[in-house]
Amino acid sequence: MPQKARRYGRSRGLPAFAAQSLYHRVVAQSSKPPPSASESLVTVRARILQALRDSPLTAREISQRASVPERDVAEHLRHIEHSLAHGDERLQTLAAHCVPCGFVFEARERHKRPSRCPRCKSERISPPRFQLER
Ligand SMILES: [Zn+2]
Repeated sequence: MPQKARRYGRSRGLPAFAAQSLYHRVVAQSSKPPPSASESLVTVRARILQALRDSPLTAREISQRASVPERDVAEHLRHIEHSLAHGDERLQTLAAHCVPCGFVFEARERHKRPSRCPRCKSERISPPRFQLER
């Protein structure tokens, strides 16, 4: 049992951020993603940063809002995290968790989505979310 599990209030079954991100998702739907074009990595990452300032996002949501392939998101996030190292913002990862049993995944592979719960074997995994914090 990972230590981290306690932080998210396992007694209620879901991490506290789950309800919050539902709210954000509804709000986020009203804003259209920016137009897609061939752009420099700097531009793409600036757009990802901007999206993350609005609300916590999954890798898929980031890919949609920044118009980048989902498989590239982890790499962008690594660079963004690095570029933030000297600023006053931090990239925060909200851990993935198992929907049926509430198991919280460790942060070892934190930019990737785990596929299966080691405790109950469910594949209903709520993916990690990313957000910027000051
Ligand atoms: Zn589980």
